[in-house]
Amino acid sequence: MPNTFKALVLNKNDDQTYSEFKQLDLADLPDGDVVVSISHSSLNYKDGLAVTGAGKIIRNFPFVPGIDLAGVVESSESEKFKVGDAVLLTGWGVGEKYWGGFSQKARLNAKWLTAMPEGLTPSRAMAIGTAGFTAMLSIMALEKYGISRKNGPVLVSGANGGVGSMAVTMLAALGYEVTASTGRLEESDFLKYLGARNIIPRSDLAHKSKPLEKEKYNGAIDTVGGQPLASLLSQLSYGTAVAACGLAAGMELPTTVFPFILRNVALLGVDSVMCPAAKRELTWQRIVEILPMDKLDSLTNTITFEQLPIAAIAILKGEIRGRTVVTIE
Ligand code: NDP
Repeated sequence: MPNTFKALVLNKNDDQTYSEFKQLDLADLPDGDVVVSISHSSLNYKDGLAVTGAGKIIRNFPFVPGIDLAGVVESSESEKFKVGDAVLLTGWGVGEKYWGGFSQKARLNAKWLTAMPEGLTPSRAMAIGTAGFTAMLSIMALEKYGISRKNGPVLVSGANGGVGSMAVTMLAALGYEVTASTGRLEESDFLKYLGARNIIPRSDLAHKSKPLEKEKYNGAIDTVGGQPLASLLSQLSYGTAVAACGLAAGMELPTTVFPFILRNVALLGVDSVMCPAAKRELTWQRIVEILPMDKLDSLTNTITFEQLPIAAIAILKGEIRGRTVVTIE
């Protein structure tokens, strides 16, 4: 097996991040107990921030980004995995603090790896990726809070994005009445195909809201943060909750305490990165159980490794619909 392989490497020049494809050697990889031969990765918003340098999330250079990866174990010093095992990885700081999946090989900590769930190909696992995983964590947070499909409409913001489109698809598959909020009304037919019952323009939540507005939604998954999340909080019905996982519209939250103390509304934080291993397995199982694979395929674009730097710019501009799988091998 050749020891050299291709990777997208980030470097910094005068405070400016730049990326280039390089041939690396196994000896260049950081420490770890499992080497994975990567066949597929995916593009997430956070990868866009890392590759372009827009998010200042990478601190040490040179660096290999990519928060998701799928492949086959090439060598292992861990009892958990043996050569030939199919694995996937999302989060754990990989692609942020530790070298990630935009590479034909990675040396990783075995405890970060998840055995490929039965019924998933590496390509579909990456189509789901961090985005689908986070969407399911958000659904499970709402369920744990007692939000059910019987209660009425549930809103998903950033509905055409990766997390948003996965959330729409899986909520609809579970029988929820989904309202999709989007800046791309021209994609309404697509969102309806995924299962959205109603579509509202992004502008409906973009204005500064009153502390309490008419009660419209019986739960929500918010991928955008900022003013839209504040407006959403003021429109949630009594005793309901929003699972907040993203910041595509901003990290500020210009709200008041009124939704919390007068409507008993809950703000449920969702983090996928440090999600414990046992919950990961459960979450992947639920995804495989309920996600309609034909819908997953229709919301997935596949790009080559070489197309990645351009796609990283596009995702930050909100130009990418659904999920993007990167073919590495
Ligand atoms: P995408 O870029 O695929 O989706 C983001 C979507 O947000 C866009 O498609 C767009 O949807 C909408 N959007 C973009 N800009 C704005 C804006 N200025 N105002 C309102 N809406 C906007 O990203 P991902 O789905 O990968 O990630 C979504 C968010 O979730 C990101 O902030 C990401 O960092 C976060 N995230 C958090 C995780 C966690 O563990 N908490 C894990 C994964 C992601 P539309 O065109 O439909 O309006």
